[in-house]
Amino acid sequence: MKLPMIRGLKIIREFDPWRSKLCTCPHKFTLNPYTGCAHGCLYCYARSYIKDFTRVRLKDKLLQRVLSDLNRIPKGALISMSESSDPYTPPEHRIGVTRKVIQAILSKGFRLLIVTKSDLVVRDEDLLSSGNAAVSITITTINDELARRLEPGAPPPSRRIDAVKKLTSAGVPVTVRIDPIIPFLNDSSEDLSELVEEVANAGALQVTTSTYKARWDSLRRLSTAFPAIKDKLYDAYVERGVRVGGYFYLPPEVRLRYLLIVLPHN
Ligand code: SF4
Repeated sequence: MKLPMIRGLKIIREFDPWRSKLCTCPHKFTLNPYTGCAHGCLYCYARSYIKDFTRVRLKDKLLQRVLSDLNRIPKGALISMSESSDPYTPPEHRIGVTRKVIQAILSKGFRLLIVTKSDLVVRDEDLLSSGNAAVSITITTINDELARRLEPGAPPPSRRIDAVKKLTSAGVPVTVRIDPIIPFLNDSSEDLSELVEEVANAGALQVTTSTYKARWDSLRRLSTAFPAIKDKLYDAYVERGVRVGGYFYLPPEVRLRYLLIVLPHN
């Protein structure tokens, strides 16, 4: 059923307001407390669209605008936080505004999905476990050293796996995103299988995965940081890949091969 578009929202946005047939998400809203993100992931898509992305800015009059929008969107709606920044990007340690936003959303009975790469989310387990909330933690590799080069500002995967354990022990539903899988970097089937096993043992309810979609700027960043794979990446994406809009995708059969590694084998 198509819901009417809600007008006059100040900061909470409808996800996919154009109702694309390609989007399979349930109807949801999205909120970014910050503009930009300091996790510095080389493959980040948002960096292509937002100027000065690594300089994190708190949104102006954030709480006031969130409270106003919560009065406009349907009761019990699903809000995802965040799609183009991380709600626990480093300045959140001292600013603490994400915690206040979570409190506002959950106390009014909305459903909340937190998407993050930071174990700082554990700080808010008291709020998350008592409201209608779930957490999705992105972990792209079990290799802390590789993650340090790939996501230089984000906490190491070992701490993120600990966060999965702590949140699930507190009763918060947790899923893990192994996203993106990047050929020649974090695509070893042994490492991916081990990662799936580790997060399952840590209590994750579900794993989702996807392969890297290349843009010129992220290809350049990856090639500079990992020069040994530059030619292979350009060949896989630009020469043999599929172009969709401004993105290069891996050929479908290659994508399928990666997805099958992450699928349960039994
Ligand atoms: S955590 Fe997300 S928003 Fe932040 S840099 Fe990484 S991919 Fe981009």
